[in-house]
Amino acid sequence: MKSIQDDAQNKFLSDKELIINWEFLWKHKKKVLSKVIETEEKIIELDIIEGKIKKNLHASQDVGQLVGEVIKKINSNRYILKAPTGTRYIVSVQNAVNKYKIKQNTRVALDSSTLTIMKLLLNRTDPIIDSMLNENPGMVRQKDIGGLEKQLQQLKEVIELPLFNPEIFTRCGVKIPKGILLYGPPGTGKTLLARFVSYNINAKFLKIVASGIVDKYIGESARIIREIFSYARLHSPCIIFIDEIDAIGGRRFSEGSSADREIQRTLMELLNQMDGFSEINDIKIIMATNRPDVLDPALLRPGRLDRKLHIPLPSKSALIEIFTIYFKKLKKHGIIDLEKIADLCKNFNGADIRNLCTEAGLFAIRDERNFVKEEDLIKAAKKISYSKNI
Ligand code: ATP
Repeated sequence: MKSIQDDAQNKFLSDKELIINWEFLWKHKKKVLSKVIETEEKIIELDIIEGKIKKNLHASQDVGQLVGEVIKKINSNRYILKAPTGTRYIVSVQNAVNKYKIKQNTRVALDSSTLTIMKLLLNRTDPIIDSMLNENPGMVRQKDIGGLEKQLQQLKEVIELPLFNPEIFTRCGVKIPKGILLYGPPGTGKTLLARFVSYNINAKFLKIVASGIVDKYIGESARIIREIFSYARLHSPCIIFIDEIDAIGGRRFSEGSSADREIQRTLMELLNQMDGFSEINDIKIIMATNRPDVLDPALLRPGRLDRKLHIPLPSKSALIEIFTIYFKKLKKHGIIDLEKIADLCKNFNGADIRNLCTEAGLFAIRDERNFVKEEDLIKAAKKISYSKNI
């Protein structure tokens, strides 16, 4: 009797155990399933990474392509093309390329060995131009510029007024100026003025350093000028600021070296572009130079750069105004006679005054002070005027 009871109890226990086991297995199955899903997702991610790596590997093993510029069409399959080195080639076109879209000045990708046109580079801003666009004019307000009130007024008349109220000019029958030349000694605030105008009218600011164009992009500089103007036309209002214009706008003497020819080609393109846009276009050109005497008269003739604005070395009162701008940012102690310090700053420009304030701050730091005294400014003025006379 007892053994039958035991048997029944054993059977009952094993059923209970079975249920426990089943529950355990069910939970385990769920965990395994979630792990499987996780692993599958990881595999997909790894597949994507593998694809990218393979693509990059193929790209690095691919034969590179050159960028060229179409000069002229000879027939439906032959074009004269300018390679980046400036050399001209007669090239053919790959069948897959849409030949109707190939025009003069179109940029194309070329096979590096056969120079066949492989692809059209349409509607893309040249990377060189793109780097010029990244120039941020910064926040320059009127109160950041000292001693140049008259110049600021004239600059506004030439740049701001035609952009916002062109009818004033047309009503009076006056030709709208296309641009202005800022000339004067270095460090007097020519770039600062251009930045101010650009910031003030919220226009796109394209800064070109003329010497940089001819130095860096030999054979390409004329094209760069062309592209800058076509970009400006698409993104007006736009201010094109050309610094150190004397590097390409110098008087033409002879066509001596290839570098001279390059400079002349660039100047011709610049003149051509300046003639090409009308005054009503929202594009204004500001050029700056320290050497107005060497500029080609063709550049300065009315209709191109109509206005010339002299930015002189600051007078004593202007020096004090510039001083006040940079002086405000310094921590000071005691009485400081700015007139006395300005007397020490003979032939100083705006940049020197800024430098003077920094130097005075450094003298204070060397003396383990966190404020500037009059004697620091005097020492700094003497130091800078000594280094200017070396
Ligand atoms: P360069 O001909 O050498 O290019 P520049 O005339 O364009 O010189 P800027 O680059 O405008 O001179 O000036 C250099 C710096 O000097 C400016 O960033 C500014 O800090 C200071 N500066 C020059 N002139 C003034 C001024 N009138 N008021 C305030 N700061 C000035």
